[in-house]
Amino acid sequence: MKLIDVTVPLDSNVPTYPGNTPFQLEAIKRLANGDSSNVSTLHLSAHAGTHVDAPRHFFDDGPGAEHLSLEMLCGRARVIELTTRKGITAQDLAGFDLTEDVRLLIKTHNSRLWGMPVFQDDFIGVTESAARFLVEHGIKLIGVDYLSVEEFKKPNAPAHRTLLGAGTIVIEGLNLRDVEPGTYELFCLPLSIVGADGAPARVVLRRS
Ligand SMILES: [Zn+2]
Repeated sequence: MKLIDVTVPLDSNVPTYPGNTPFQLEAIKRLANGDSSNVSTLHLSAHAGTHVDAPRHFFDDGPGAEHLSLEMLCGRARVIELTTRKGITAQDLAGFDLTEDVRLLIKTHNSRLWGMPVFQDDFIGVTESAARFLVEHGIKLIGVDYLSVEEFKKPNAPAHRTLLGAGTIVIEGLNLRDVEPGTYELFCLPLSIVGADGAPARVVLRRS
């Protein structure tokens, strides 16, 4: 079984969304220091690296990460590639027949940004028109290849509000650099963090 890991490794090189807690693996116990074992403490944002957004991210009464449907997080997924270097619009998506699709992963130039430890604020986000298009076309899970589905500093966060408000699962921070467009089986398993607005996830694809 050949699996493609589309997860960004969490290390000191993973970029952090501005204002969020940087990832850190803190040594609490170390064999090298004479301790009985190695034990670390994790310091990280709920939106560190590859992660899911829960509706709670933008809606106080929305479900937390533990309520995201595993049935929706795993299953047939379509990967499409867009060459636009601006925000993704409904027009960019209109050329794709998505009638068979409920899970859609969008590969862009963003996947080339991984490896740069400094947050890149010119990443490609999803505009409100595209978010509406996705909801109207029955997409229930959307994956993007940088740290936010939203264009950077977009007032009122229309993409998040439209998608999360419709119950669409949002996966952010995928590395799709080595993934060809096509149909795959998706396995996305976020940590079950109760009440969390997001949760880190391991995400892999299997060619179907
Ligand atoms: Zn997020």
